[in-house]
Amino acid sequence: MAGRKDYVNSKVTSNREQIEHHVREILKLVGENVEREGLLETPARVTRMYEEIFAGYEVDPREVLGVSFDEQHEELVIVKDIVYYSQCEHHMAPFFGKVHIGYIPSGKIAGLSKLARLVEAITRRLQVQERITSQIADIMDEELKPNGVMVVVEGEHLCMCARGVKKPGSKTVTSAVRGEFRTSSALRSEFLALLKQ
Ligand SMILES: [Zn+2]
Repeated sequence: MAGRKDYVNSKVTSNREQIEHHVREILKLVGENVEREGLLETPARVTRMYEEIFAGYEVDPREVLGVSFDEQHEELVIVKDIVYYSQCEHHMAPFFGKVHIGYIPSGKIAGLSKLARLVEAITRRLQVQERITSQIADIMDEELKPNGVMVVVEGEHLCMCARGVKKPGSKTVTSAVRGEFRTSSALRSEFLALLKQ
């Protein structure tokens, strides 16, 4: 995976040897020969990957949005195509896709990089797509106190593909609405129309 190394899970770092040991044990238990060349470094690689993909545990998503600009702008703001990579908590298999956020500020606006950090803090841990969607909406709602917020998350789930439940390439789409988006179908339509552009 292409990951930014802005932050890592330091618990993984300090438990590195134990995690490598257990990965090696699982490889043996599924019938692998852990001495063959291709697998020699695998436990260490898996552990380094865990440092990145579980880095969200080290970040408080609420603090990420902390500083925001005061703005008079009270029209719809849309930030779309924020790429995420997460792990399904039922199978520990990857799922990934894009997050789209629309909100109507009421004095506070979050910078683009802050929203990307929020998405990382929430997705870089064991998750389900539905909870990612509602957590982003709730934290936006509580920290920025906008007039309304809508979050749409698209995800491709490898656990479903690998187990033959769904065809590769099929996407799950989830959404959450707060504030004015709850009551105004016109607002929801405007957001969805702008996503398609
Ligand atoms: Zn799963």
